[in-house]
This record gives sequence, C-alpha cells and structure tokens, in this order.
Amino acid sequence: MFQWKKLLAVGALALATAVGFAGCGGDNAASSSSSGAKTLKVGASVDFAPFEFQDEGQSEYQGFDMDLIRAIGKEMGYDVEIQNIGFDGLIPALQAKNVDVLITGMTINDERKQTVDFSDPYYQSGLTIVVRENEQNIKSFKDLEGKKIAVQIGTTSAKETKVIPGAEVKELNTPADCFMELKAGGVDAVVNDRPVNDYYIHTNQQTGVKVLPDRLTSEDYGIAVAKGNTELLTKINDALKKLKDNGEYDKIFAKWFGEQKQQ
Ligand code: GLN
Repeated sequence: MFQWKKLLAVGALALATAVGFAGCGGDNAASSSSSGAKTLKVGASVDFAPFEFQDEGQSEYQGFDMDLIRAIGKEMGYDVEIQNIGFDGLIPALQAKNVDVLITGMTINDERKQTVDFSDPYYQSGLTIVVRENEQNIKSFKDLEGKKIAVQIGTTSAKETKVIPGAEVKELNTPADCFMELKAGGVDAVVNDRPVNDYYIHTNQQTGVKVLPDRLTSEDYGIAVAKGNTELLTKINDALKKLKDNGEYDKIFAKWFGEQKQQ
C-alpha cells in the first residue's frame, strides 16, 4: 500500500514536470492558446499614429504596424496578442521574454543590434522637426543649436538631438506629450519620426504648429526579436516577403499612407 502511494507520488511529479515543460513551450518563440493555435506575443508602444494607436472608444489597437503584424501572424498560423508597453520598456520586455516580438516603428540601428535581432526592413522613415506656426528662427536642423527640444524617451530622436551643441533636450514619455509641451511653450521644437509628425499635423489637423521640410536621417523600421531567436526571425521574414509578393503589404500600406510611395 505504502509502495503504491510512493509510486503514484513519483508518477504525479513526473507528469507535473512534463506539463510544466510543455507549458514553457518547446518552441520558445510562442505559447499555445486555448484555440490550439500558437500565440505570438507582440509588444508595441501604442502612442505612435499611424503605426500604433488607439482611438477613443475603440478597443482594438490600430495602425500600419498593427495590421502588418496581424497579417504576419496569420501567415505564420499564429494568434496575435498585442501588449502596450512604454517605448523605453520594450527591449527589456523582449529580453525578459514577456513578449516574442516588437513592432513599434522601431528604427534598425547598430546600438540596438547589440541586444536584439531585426527583421528585414518594412518601412523607410526619418526624422523631422515640428515648431509653433509663428516660429521664425528655426527653419532646419542646424537652427536647433542652443534650443529647447522635446523628444520621446529612448528614441533615435533623443540620440540625434543630444549631440546638437547647446541644445536642451527634454525626454518625455510619448510624442503627444512632446507636442503638448511645444504648444504650451515649454520647448521650441519637437523632433520625431516624419510619418508620425505628418499624420499629427495633416490627418489630425492640429493647428498652431507646423512641420518643417528638412530631414535629419533616413531610418528603416524593423521588427525585433530576442537576440539569437533565428527560428522566429526566419518565420517573420518569410511571412513579410510573402505579404510583399502577394500584394497584401501594398494594401495595408495604401490604407494608412494612401498612394504615396516609400521615400
Ligand atoms: N523610430 C524611432 C526609434 O526607433 C521612434 C520609434 C517610436 O517612438 N515608436 O527610436
């Protein structure tokens, strides 16, 4: 009798261990959902229209990145679950394996390549300046010397503006915070990604501010995975290529950017 109990206990432990391991997933890229499909856990800083944003009264996250990653997930046969995480917390969340991928208008650069791996580029961007409508002195990036500038924390805008001689750079949580600071007179300019500035001024029809034509950089956006997760990266690149080949990418692009071409 005693022996039986012991055997059962050992059996239960073995089962628990096996279930535990299965729960962690042999494929560490994704976990299983109740529907049986694998789930791709996506991190995004949902403050970056038209790439990722949430309109009032809308439960779903919207934008170019959101549509693209849902299409990529579908192509891969995965359910997609998107988590909203502040921009400076995204790479740590990926490293902690709280999410499998990041899609968040993230620029591919050497500094980030030390800690994450990037997919093939999926959008060509760059940085522009937003100033108040009556601004006379700032016409291009060289005029930002000695000025007060707002940028989103942890971004390429923060990196590029910190090296401008005499500039005072305020790092705020979101682009919306930066624009508010500009309107309130707390800074002279906002530096931020071109398509996001354009969307803010033209689509959201903001008044009292204008975007300048000068561009500081040319930047490519990529989808990030944990360093060394080549299995997932290959699946993402294959899906992205398929969507580009079958016209689905172009459809999503046209939905958010109209007929304008990649520049
Ligand atoms: N493209 C910029 C960067 O990677 C900004 C991204 C963002 O704010 N979502 O730093």
